[in-house]
Amino acid sequence: MNKTLKEQIVDLFRRCGADLVRFGNVERCGDPAVKKIFPQTRTVICAAFRQLRGSRRGIEEGSTYYQYTTTAVEVLEENVMPTALLRVCALLEDNGFEALPQRRNQTVMQEKDSTNFEVDYREIYRGRTAENQLDFERCAVDCGLGEQGLSGSILTDEFGPCQRFVFILTDAEIEPDPIVKPHLCDKCGACIKACPGRALDPEKGRDPWQCSAYYIGANMTKNPFMPPEAFADDPERLAIITGETKLSPERAREIIEQIIFYPPIKHSYWSSICGRACDTACYIHLEEKDVLTKKFHTPFRKRPEWHLPVTEPDQTEK
Ligand code: SF4
Ligand code: SF4
Repeated sequence: MNKTLKEQIVDLFRRCGADLVRFGNVERCGDPAVKKIFPQTRTVICAAFRQLRGSRRGIEEGSTYYQYTTTAVEVLEENVMPTALLRVCALLEDNGFEALPQRRNQTVMQEKDSTNFEVDYREIYRGRTAENQLDFERCAVDCGLGEQGLSGSILTDEFGPCQRFVFILTDAEIEPDPIVKPHLCDKCGACIKACPGRALDPEKGRDPWQCSAYYIGANMTKNPFMPPEAFADDPERLAIITGETKLSPERAREIIEQIIFYPPIKHSYWSSICGRACDTACYIHLEEKDVLTKKFHTPFRKRPEWHLPVTEPDQTEK
């Protein structure tokens, strides 16, 4: 029996490594960027790729750090996902339809003073108003991928917050999937509590600059690479390295300049030291509630969370 175009797209995405594929019709897509980017869009296709649980293990144990950003961010975003996008877009073109691949735009932003916490802020070109970018989380919800949690991350039944996703805008009319009725996020606040820099606010969401500084390790108690002399001359030293301070964009940039204790990744990505602790805490919470469909033989958190001591510049412990 001949497969429908939708079945062919799902099959090909899966063969290219996607775990979840969902379709939204343009009528229910609330993101105005969809039509700005491609006015003839009829369907938005979303494909999600799991972040391996093993990619988080090193930071969970405090044993190895490079793996999270390389295998759970960079390789997915720069290799696996673009390759899948190109192949599925080619399939749509073979069927006579236009297909626009959309991956997260890491280095061009419309907003003048914003940032992307996963990317070196010095690599971002800002204020380019002609540059439209999808609201990834909004489009994921509109495609039926999952629900948006209090942390801002998309939560799915399979992987909780641990996936990354891409989109295709196409003029092909394809049967949409149902929108997911929110049922996973119980507003437990574990994501907010887990952040080493207090970058998540239940009302205001993520502070991108605060998150940037603590994503790359401004909190000494969660950064084994921070030397005792870090921020030695800063009157706010203790507040910075314990995550108690509130950073303006300017102050965050000053702090970030001093946190390079660990080599950066290629493609402009910062090496994550927090390992997205907000998402890890959410994953642990959802796993404990036994609401995720992907099961493991052992729980992710195998012992109490570790914290390093705050040390003074002369290396005496406080
Ligand atoms: S940790 Fe709790 S509050 Fe945060 S997103 Fe997950 S379920 Fe929601
Ligand atoms: S845990 Fe990390 S990624 Fe999450 S909000 Fe805090 S600094 Fe940002």
